[in-house]
Amino acid sequence: MIATHIYYLKAMGIDSWVRRDLITQETPITEPVHIPPPPQPVVTTPIIEPVRIPIPQPPLPVVETPIIEPVHIPQPPQPVVITPSWESLQHQVVTCTACELHKTRIQTVLGVGNQNADLMVIGEAPGADEDVQGEPFVGRSGKLLNAMLYAIDLKRESIYIANVLKCRPPGNRNPQLPELVCCQTFLDIQIQLIKPKLIVAVGGIAAHHLLATNTGIGKLRGQLLAYKNIPLIATYHPSFLLRRPSEKRHAWLDLQLIRHTLNEIS
Ligand code: SF4
Repeated sequence: MIATHIYYLKAMGIDSWVRRDLITQETPITEPVHIPPPPQPVVTTPIIEPVRIPIPQPPLPVVETPIIEPVHIPQPPQPVVITPSWESLQHQVVTCTACELHKTRIQTVLGVGNQNADLMVIGEAPGADEDVQGEPFVGRSGKLLNAMLYAIDLKRESIYIANVLKCRPPGNRNPQLPELVCCQTFLDIQIQLIKPKLIVAVGGIAAHHLLATNTGIGKLRGQLLAYKNIPLIATYHPSFLLRRPSEKRHAWLDLQLIRHTLNEIS
């Protein structure tokens, strides 16, 4: 009952209370009732454990070891290496299929004559007669060449005779540049073996090929030129002289120059 009173008095702002009938008496002053505050709830601060948030890692790039293919370095075409001997040269020429002319030839025509000659006569290619006989400068043009040589005291057997091509072009057409280039090795080996002191280029095609020029034979003839440091004289082909006999006078001048040069260098 008293506690209820105190509660209401406290609510009205009255801290102490004494009964009225007891005020007149020497009533000891009642000590104010101490109203204890209502118990406060114990607030416990929760211990917050750090949350580990996984940080996504970027995927590592897949490094593939490159497969290194071996580098293929193309090798330049190797030249045909021929041991400089007559036997190997003959075999290489007879079995040669380096250009298209091997398909239409009857046989190869390497050359004929003295393999130690001071003079080497070089024409352009075998004709029909040469293809059949296997020897250069036969038939009518061959006979005229023999006569020209005889005029300056030379015999066919004492010199060496060859062509820049060893196979006959079909229909006696002019040799083509790829054919001349293909056959060049054989001619150079022949020259290497013979070691002539003088070369006579017979006809425009032989002269153009050996001198690497397109200058007409009419301007090349009648003078001392050179092929790989070997003295060279160009003159008309006997077959041309057979068609143009008026040019024989120029051919005769060339023959005299040949004779004179041989006399000088022999
Ligand atoms: Fe060989 Fe010369 Fe005959 Fe051509 S012409 S097939 S390169 S030998």
